[in-house]
Amino acid sequence: MTDAVSRPLPRVLLAPGRERSLERRHPWIFKGAIRSVEGEPGVGDTVEIRAHDGRWLALAAYSPASQIAARVWTFERDATVDEAFLEARVRAALARRADLLTEPDGGCRLIFGEADELPGLIVDRYADQLVLQVLAAGAERWRDALVAALQAALPDARIYERSDASVRGKEGLPQRTGPVVGDAPAGPVEIQEDGARFQVDVERGHKTGFYLDQRDARAWLSAHASGKDVLNVFAYTGAFGVVARTGGAAGLTQVDSSADALEAAERHLALNGVATPEDELVRGDAFEVLRRFAEEGRQWDVVVLDPPKFIESKAQLQRGARGYKDINRVALACVRPGGTLLTFSCSGLLEPDLFQKIVADAALDAGRTGRIRARLFQGRDHPVLLPFPESAYLKGLVVRVEG
Ligand code: SAH
Repeated sequence: MTDAVSRPLPRVLLAPGRERSLERRHPWIFKGAIRSVEGEPGVGDTVEIRAHDGRWLALAAYSPASQIAARVWTFERDATVDEAFLEARVRAALARRADLLTEPDGGCRLIFGEADELPGLIVDRYADQLVLQVLAAGAERWRDALVAALQAALPDARIYERSDASVRGKEGLPQRTGPVVGDAPAGPVEIQEDGARFQVDVERGHKTGFYLDQRDARAWLSAHASGKDVLNVFAYTGAFGVVARTGGAAGLTQVDSSADALEAAERHLALNGVATPEDELVRGDAFEVLRRFAEEGRQWDVVVLDPPKFIESKAQLQRGARGYKDINRVALACVRPGGTLLTFSCSGLLEPDLFQKIVADAALDAGRTGRIRARLFQGRDHPVLLPFPESAYLKGLVVRVEG
């Protein structure tokens, strides 16, 4: 690609004042910030972003179908967006996680989109299997180059694509899944984390197959589970259940609405050699199940509450906040005095302060009082780029429940 050299790039001119977020190095240009487009950029093409007075600001990928009409590739005026540029970005992302790459059977996020300055690109690694998720027009336009860069950096890896997230629709991109390099895995891919073994279904699992982002919370639970009765709500395939047991939990109850997820949760305990006949799996709606437990007066030493994303858009903020409050209230009722609630929200639109207020209100309604012992956060393979606060989405509170 030498088009940047041979002919001028299309230009996107911003409305007056709308250059400010770019000057602070925020990488998104919203549709409403654009005054005019010069040239005829295609979907995913590289465009120059300029202020209303013509001042050069950035090179970005154009995405006419999306509310986020362009995503910045670079704020460096001399840069050219081409294969070499992208390969350097991929290598930088991998270098950021060099310590995690040394574990041959490890799992970690290799590329976290905007936070790794590769907008719209997610790459997760499960042992020698990579999973690629392309979520924006620019990454889609350069998909082959990005795959080539991954192959160059990790020549032994297989690559499977899971570009089936609903946000692709907002970019006007169709869903696409399937093997890209090497065959599709014959079955689940096994990874190890701190000695625990997990099977990852990269073809059908949530996200790219596993909640890699909860690494720190798993470590916390593993270190604090010894001798405890643990309730794992929204268990999915039971990753928290496994680390509770390998950490020495005395009892384990896991709740999820999905029968398949609970079967996988059961298999995971056996795989780790920690299954016991007393393990309890409860299929049902967590709101109802917890209410029933509370009515029955059942309580646990540690309750893990890791719900799905309740807030997908600003319009859902109030309703989602109510959902978090309701579920935390019934979960708090299930914590023994002196016990601990590990409560999470992966809704990026819910600010940590508001989440803490919601949990405080839930405790008030439940007639319980507590103190925050620790705050948990997405693992370090999901870094937060300072000018892009949207990359911080997962937060957790460890609340010691007194009385
Ligand atoms: N804690 C898990 C991830 C949870 S994902 C982990 O660390 O791997 C959210 C889970 O909540 C999914 O498994 C989904 O099946 C389940 N779920 C969604 N809505 C639910 C509901 N109302 N009641 C019970 N489970 C629900």
